[in-house]
Amino acid sequence: MSTPSSERPNWSLVERELLGGGFHPSRRLGQNFLRDPRAIESVVAAAELAPGACVLEVGPGYGVLSYELAARGCQLVAVEIDPRLAELSERILAPFPGARVVRSDALGGKHALAKPLLAAVAGWRDWSLVANLPYSVASPLIALVARLPAPPRRIVATVQLEVAERLLAPPGGGDFGPLSVRVQLAYRGSLVRRIGPGAFSPRPEVDSGIVRLDLRDDRPASDAWPPLDRLVDVLFQQRRKSVLGVLRAELGDAEVARDLLASQGIAPELRPERLAPERFLALAQDPAWCDHFARSAASDPRRVSPEESRGEARQEPEPSE
Ligand code: SAM
Repeated sequence: MSTPSSERPNWSLVERELLGGGFHPSRRLGQNFLRDPRAIESVVAAAELAPGACVLEVGPGYGVLSYELAARGCQLVAVEIDPRLAELSERILAPFPGARVVRSDALGGKHALAKPLLAAVAGWRDWSLVANLPYSVASPLIALVARLPAPPRRIVATVQLEVAERLLAPPGGGDFGPLSVRVQLAYRGSLVRRIGPGAFSPRPEVDSGIVRLDLRDDRPASDAWPPLDRLVDVLFQQRRKSVLGVLRAELGDAEVARDLLASQGIAPELRPERLAPERFLALAQDPAWCDHFARSAASDPRRVSPEESRGEARQEPEPSE
């Protein structure tokens, strides 16, 4: 059973250590393992990591990406929920003193980062998130790390192509939505490359993409997010109505809604889905919206809870093997 601890992980390791021992990859945990070395190389190259760089990986699985990161001298924290995979990646990372596995769900409760993950990155100021992300976790994880007081400077992640498209979508198209606004306000993104199902085992039904996100210096401050989250939810609930119509219904006063839009130079007949992320931020920071948000929060805290505001992020379809 034992593996030479410095072995570079490959698929025969998985067959020998996991599949041979009765391990069945979990669809719920997005256990579609990357086995194409070119895809792994693309992730590592896009991350542009110097030796000593601090890196968080979520879902090391059998350690195929973790090994490459650790071998480049990164200070690596790899958070794995599945104890069998945590044990295997601990063995893979054993020769690297700067790398460790944290056995935990990356998310804590429904829509928060887990405490062990937060503790691991607490002292980091300049760090990267580099991962082949499990499908069900990708959107909430990226949205949540983007609003940390010290967010990752760079994110390079393999995600479902549909999620990549939503992360990078410009205003006006069908992919543009709450996730696009929340992430694009914090990051400038690009698609590194597409990856077909054949790069994974088991094969997912959908295509994937590697995205690279670089932190913006002009991102919103931490305290800007709650009113912004509420505004994003309100406007996207009726994305095809006029922005005036939606705000009038929410604010309960046509004149306040009209003044709010006029003060931000936004045409009242525009549809919410056509507003650039920066417009969402400007509206959310307008005193009229801040007053409304504070009153709503005082009268019904559930209406402005982060749980509600990121509900959409947990609804990714899962691939089937
Ligand atoms: N990094 C490996 C690779 O590239 O082959 C595995 C990636 S696989 C897509 C996703 C990994 O995330 C699995 O190891 C799975 O057990 C783990 N995982 C799933 N949900 C998780 C969660 N909520 N927190 C931490 N790890 C999770």
